Amino acid sequence: MSIFAQFGLRKVINASGKMTALGASAVSDEVADALKRAAQDYVDIEEMMEFAGRVIAEYTGAEDGCPTCGAAAGIAISTAAVITGKNLSLIERMPDSEGLRNEIIIQKGQQVHFGASIAQMVRLGGGKVVEIGNANKVEADHIKQAITDRTAALLYVKSHHAVQKGMQSIETMMQIAKEHQIPFIIDAAAEEDFQKYIRMGADIVIYSGGKALEGPTSGLICGKKEWMEACRMQYKGIGRPMKIGKEGVAGLIAALKQYPFKKDNAEEQIERMTRLNTALADVKGLSCSIKQDEAGRAIYRAQIQVDASNAGMTAAELLSRLETGNPAIFLRHHYVNVGILAVDPRPLLEGQEDIIASEIKRILKEVQSS
Ligand SMILES: *Cc1c(COP(=O)(O)O)cnc(C)c1O
Repeated sequence: MSIFAQFGLRKVINASGKMTALGASAVSDEVADALKRAAQDYVDIEEMMEFAGRVIAEYTGAEDGCPTCGAAAGIAISTAAVITGKNLSLIERMPDSEGLRNEIIIQKGQQVHFGASIAQMVRLGGGKVVEIGNANKVEADHIKQAITDRTAALLYVKSHHAVQKGMQSIETMMQIAKEHQIPFIIDAAAEEDFQKYIRMGADIVIYSGGKALEGPTSGLICGKKEWMEACRMQYKGIGRPMKIGKEGVAGLIAALKQYPFKKDNAEEQIERMTRLNTALADVKGLSCSIKQDEAGRAIYRAQIQVDASNAGMTAAELLSRLETGNPAIFLRHHYVNVGILAVDPRPLLEGQEDIIASEIKRILKEVQSS
């Protein structure tokens, strides 16, 4: 029995993707085993954090790393690190950074809400957010002209939440940072390539451990050795209320070690989504197909087009019925306004595609026979 069912909570079938609100990732047996073994044992935490830094370095190509409890904590901790360096008195003073070099420059279209606001995470780390340009247009001059002797870092947010057009590129922003000898930070929370931005020359890169990595609730920062040491030292300061435990670190390490060997399971995805579509083939008002991810990633989703006049309900109504049911089924709904729902096979546990098909069938049969 699921532990959540044991608590009396509704069973959730996640077919929408890596959603923090649904518990991000369900980890592999290897990662779960690492969590369990770490939780039942002791370790010298400082030694473990340094070891984790070396593992992060190995898999990201960075000089060093720092485990965190998530990418959001990564933003706060790296902000504090660029303000305080390794000065313990300053570390203990954060988030009060009055009189220090504390300004963090961010492009307006990237000051987004990922479930909480990027700017608030910066402020938690003692940073003063300097938003530049406009929501849909930022010029290189905006960045250059915002730099003062108070600038602590330039922060770039690589995310589907951000405005994609009209922003200055990573390359341009990094070039400006380098010319002014200011650290360049990238929040790459949900990105799949754990080496790309370090290779490009970023000083500090932040990732979530529970998104592409499919690890436990965790995160990581990687980058220049000096900054990573300063990041780890923040656990004596503002990092303390956002600490990652020994089990989280062990799970993060296990997930990193598995990541490069993850097999491309496109065939399995297509097979499962074909099964789902076949089961829905005779349902009135639905037409199902398989669509590859818009961004070209190896994700093959079942796409369910709902013709409301034949189906007896709109895609939005079907979505809502599925989400409020028990089990609660969450589908991807980026195109619900044009009648399209999608099933993401990646987070589905064994056999859940069959449950989704039978629930959809049951709901539609019910309205169609009434
Ligand atoms: C998800 C996300 C975060 C927060 O990541 P957590 O690991 O959940 O803390 C931060 N920034 C961006 C752009 C995100 O998408």
